[in-house]
Amino acid sequence: MRQAAFTVLSLLLLGPSLIHAAPHDAAHHASTQLGTAHGSPRPWRRLSDAIIRKIWRLPEHQKSLGREHVTGDHIVAQYSEDVVLRFKIRTVEEASALADAADTLFLDVWEFNDDWADLRIAKDVVPSLLGLLPPSLQKAHEPLMQDRELAQAIFDSYPSPSTQSHESDRFSPNLRPSHRTAKGHPFFQDYQPLSVINPWMSLMSSMFTTHVRRIAVGKSYEGRDIPALRVGVHPTNNDQPSEPRKTVIITGGSHAREWISTSTVNYLAWSLINGYGKDREMTRLLEEFDFVLVPTLNPDGYMYSWETDRLWRKNRQPTSLRFCRGVDLDRSYPYKWNGDSTRSNPCSESFAGDAPFDGVEAQRFAEWARNETESNNVEIVGFLDLHSYSQQILYPYSYSCDEEPPAIEDLEELALGLAKAIRVSRKGHAYKVTSACEGNVAFANKKKTILPRIESSGHTCQQASWLAQLSSARSA
Ligand SMILES: [Zn+2]
Repeated sequence: MRQAAFTVLSLLLLGPSLIHAAPHDAAHHASTQLGTAHGSPRPWRRLSDAIIRKIWRLPEHQKSLGREHVTGDHIVAQYSEDVVLRFKIRTVEEASALADAADTLFLDVWEFNDDWADLRIAKDVVPSLLGLLPPSLQKAHEPLMQDRELAQAIFDSYPSPSTQSHESDRFSPNLRPSHRTAKGHPFFQDYQPLSVINPWMSLMSSMFTTHVRRIAVGKSYEGRDIPALRVGVHPTNNDQPSEPRKTVIITGGSHAREWISTSTVNYLAWSLINGYGKDREMTRLLEEFDFVLVPTLNPDGYMYSWETDRLWRKNRQPTSLRFCRGVDLDRSYPYKWNGDSTRSNPCSESFAGDAPFDGVEAQRFAEWARNETESNNVEIVGFLDLHSYSQQILYPYSYSCDEEPPAIEDLEELALGLAKAIRVSRKGHAYKVTSACEGNVAFANKKKTILPRIESSGHTCQQASWLAQLSSARSA
């Protein structure tokens, strides 16, 4: 394939504590009926929306949400001593000092851009942090979440009692009841655990056999399938050998706690599935392309974030340090692997493993994609990886601003188009479009590489470049 046709973007979505699991009315967007253009209704079309809604509530599975593991008391005990601070950054020196201090104290960096950094930190560690900073930074911070706001936000991220059969009084009275309203489709009203997502995916494939298949793109370290839906309509009655199937991959959840990315992949899957045969554009897309939708590349971490630690980020494989599990899957891909900076620190949220492809799920996903390309007549033409916190659309490369990917103009145009579509459809919601390398610009001039931007330095570069390599290898 031409490199120019391969497009890779990373989309950072609004933080999980700040938004519902998906846009409201997810399943109720009116789709244009195509009338008789596509012949008689396929069997699944005869199912009324009411039946779909009824099935979709999955009452038998809702009982195994994992919420029994997570009570209000548990959340308060785990997170009430943490705050989230935003530091305003004015100079390269300030940025450098803050990055060093965050590294020294193993802080959880939520965002680090040219203007500010958001850090999660235990209240009693704040004096130590300030002690490491230059005077100009010591007062240049404000709390984004204090007291119990983080615990409350975490509490709010679990399925709301209004859409559950669970009783809300199991939660601590110290936390306010969630004030979310129960609008929209129940499946997208809340975040869903793996115990609901898995049967939902099976349900989709059994209901919509004409254009949906449930697949796995690998197995996790703990032996779980990495589930995916392949959505598309293959040409039939064709005696000629078929051309490689153009395929777009959309992934979420490689960082466990970024639940909104998982829900958004499911929402995209549903939009494509439900739009087929109803919406002309969706139908055309599914005739032209396959979409492989992977809601959670990191199922072990996702489970762990539901049952044990809501803010867990990495996968769950052991490291050389017994008490610090997990590899950052984003940084595990081999192209321009940058693991030397974290190799000595398995406790880092950005730990890339001891060597390229140490992250089990990253390696398995890579093997799957290679096999698809080499043996299954698939041509991967696009890759979108969803993450959360900060609203940005990032395109490659991340490892260096000195190098440009092939077809940089196409990537920029696509990213700008995506931002525009979000702005128009979400009433002015602004997403920043930038190269993933931009976070390092301030440091590049001084030949100092600091990568505290957790959400923008790994995934776009390595994962995407690795897929691009696959594509070009195929064309070679
Ligand atoms: Zn992420």
